[in-house]
Amino acid sequence: MFGSFLAVQQAWRVVVASLMAALLVLGVQSFWLATVAERDHQALRERVGLSLESGLAKALWNYDEDTARAIISDGLRSNPIRVIEVRDADGAVFARVEGPTQVADLSLWQDYLGWLVRLEGEQTLDLTFSSTIDNRHHNVTVGQAQILYDKDHFLRMISDRLASQALGILFVVLVVALSTSAVFHWFVSRHIIRVSKDLSTVDPEDPAATILGVPWVHRRNEFGRMIDRLNRLLRQLARVQSELRRLATRDTLTNLPNRGLVLEMLDRAIDDARLEDTRCAVMFLDLDMFKHVNDSLGHGAGDDVLKEVGKRLGAELSGLGAVGRLGGDEFVVMIPEYDREEDLARLARRLIASVKRPVSLLGTLVHPSTCVGIACHPLDGSSAQALLRSADTALYAAKAGGPGQWAFFNRSMTEGALDRLRTEAKLRTAVEAEDLVLHYQPKLDLSTGRITGCEALVRWNSEGKMIPPGRFIPIAEETGLIYDIGLWVLREACQAHRRWMACLGEVTVAVNVSAQQLKEDRFLADFLSILGEFGIDPRHLELEVTESVIMSRIDVSSQLLGEIKAHGVRLSVDDFGTGYSSLAYLKKLPIDILKIDRAFVKDLPQDTSIPRMIISLADQLGLRTVAEGIESQAQLDWLRENGCQMAQGFLIGRPMPEADFVSFVPRYNTRVMPGNT
Ligand code: C2E
Ligand code: MG
Ligand code: MG
Repeated sequence: MFGSFLAVQQAWRVVVASLMAALLVLGVQSFWLATVAERDHQALRERVGLSLESGLAKALWNYDEDTARAIISDGLRSNPIRVIEVRDADGAVFARVEGPTQVADLSLWQDYLGWLVRLEGEQTLDLTFSSTIDNRHHNVTVGQAQILYDKDHFLRMISDRLASQALGILFVVLVVALSTSAVFHWFVSRHIIRVSKDLSTVDPEDPAATILGVPWVHRRNEFGRMIDRLNRLLRQLARVQSELRRLATRDTLTNLPNRGLVLEMLDRAIDDARLEDTRCAVMFLDLDMFKHVNDSLGHGAGDDVLKEVGKRLGAELSGLGAVGRLGGDEFVVMIPEYDREEDLARLARRLIASVKRPVSLLGTLVHPSTCVGIACHPLDGSSAQALLRSADTALYAAKAGGPGQWAFFNRSMTEGALDRLRTEAKLRTAVEAEDLVLHYQPKLDLSTGRITGCEALVRWNSEGKMIPPGRFIPIAEETGLIYDIGLWVLREACQAHRRWMACLGEVTVAVNVSAQQLKEDRFLADFLSILGEFGIDPRHLELEVTESVIMSRIDVSSQLLGEIKAHGVRLSVDDFGTGYSSLAYLKKLPIDILKIDRAFVKDLPQDTSIPRMIISLADQLGLRTVAEGIESQAQLDWLRENGCQMAQGFLIGRPMPEADFVSFVPRYNTRVMPGNT
């Protein structure tokens, strides 16, 4: 309510203490005033005595009552006197005058003042008249004057003085007290309040995150040192806490995350995957026949094996994921992000292989082995617990296959990954085993109606089955095998071209080049060496590069493609229209041909917008256009009529083996067709 309680309490105490000090000062003051008053009163008595004595004596001598009364009245008027009574020598009242009586204010205060100030209220004056008889001076006592002073007048006077001084002192005290409080608040309590607020925001989970600021004015005093000590305490607390947390979250044997932390990390990975729309996975590992190690070599040796396995798993993962130990011989590997299931299968195989290396213990070689169960988020579970359970189930499936096996929770995933891995293994030997073949798809010159070129398309003859490139080129690209395959394709296409040169004449051959090939620094040298090796006229060779590949690394592509083009080889942008070409870059790139993607040819002649735009764009840039995927005469007619130069598609001819292509071209070129020139 008061903003800061401390400041109010502090102000209140300062005011009370100051008031008490003020009272003490006033007490002393009142004693001093009493002394002064007593002195003043004494002086008054002497003055009054002197002023009345001779006049009254004379009036009494002369028995002049009027004069006596006048003198008395005068005395009463100018002095705080209540009554003056004059008696003659016989004691009879000669004159008596009373002043106006003031009603005394008999309060405690008055009592106190009466006690404090000792005043002689009455005064008796002997009235002596000096007469000269026979030239001699005689002092004759003619009577007495009784004076009754107005003591209350003095008390009132002291009271007034005291009151005005008290008011002054109180005012000063209040002002000083309040300004002192304000200064203290500004200098001290405000900082205490701030420190207290900062302390209340300390996160118990992370105390070191709060750093209490030392006010500039307190840098070198006890207050500043106190804050420094508090900061040190917070840091110590954080250290102790992190140590406690480490003890609570780490497996004591391997120092790997324990079950609690594994679940926490997995939950975090799941949340991240959800947020970033990626996929995460978990692997459950269990050592095969670990019990034998414990039984035969003892638990100490068993512990050593577990420690070694933990280390090997961590080293093998090297940043791809994290490993934890659930207890016993069970380990968990968390993969926060992956692309394909076969990557996981490949990793599982690597983990199994790393565990399999022998461990030397007490002079004996131990051969550990493990099985791996794999579960993928979100398909196999949406929470850490569920995912772990699925991975555990998958582990049992793997164990059923014997030691050193892996399995996905989802059986079709296991089969899919196995299939991909087998394909990968076979593909590695495909080039040497001469299992790859090239088929050639004719390209028709729309202005002459003749086949003037072809595209070389690779096929894989795997155990008698022709596998289309769509199924193995992506694997070849992921594994890096594409580089050697690409060189083989180029070499094979050049060789074929040389073979058919004599019979087909100037038929160009187009070869597809993938991103991975272009990324390799050695590509240009290898490419030029193949050109030289087979002596192909570079004008008869065309490279097809997909639009997305060129655009993703525009700077590198344009330089490399520029060098290739400088050797006379033509460049074609494959699948044009499916990427996001910037027209500005397109103008700068050293390209010759735009290949309209099959997806746009498909809708011809109904939807002509994109092919029309590409043809016009190519025209503007001085490029040629090739349309691929032509399956109907209507498509072909539209393209011819609208200025497309070349056509490729099943309508003209499917990709075919070299022998078929060599016989196909002359047959096609010499056929008689209406409109064929
Ligand atoms: P691409 O370069 O766009 O090749 C054209 C694809 O369309 C070929 O499929 C061809 O058979 C198919 N095609 C041609 N005309 C028609 C048609 O009228 N209708 C339909 N539905 N399809 C048609 P293919 O041979 O399966 O090749 C697929 C892709 O594989 C190629 O697309 C190319 O990107 C890649 N590829 C093929 N051979 C190689 C190679 O030697 N190296 C590299 N890096 N990639 C290759
Ligand atoms: Mg192509
Ligand atoms: Mg294409």
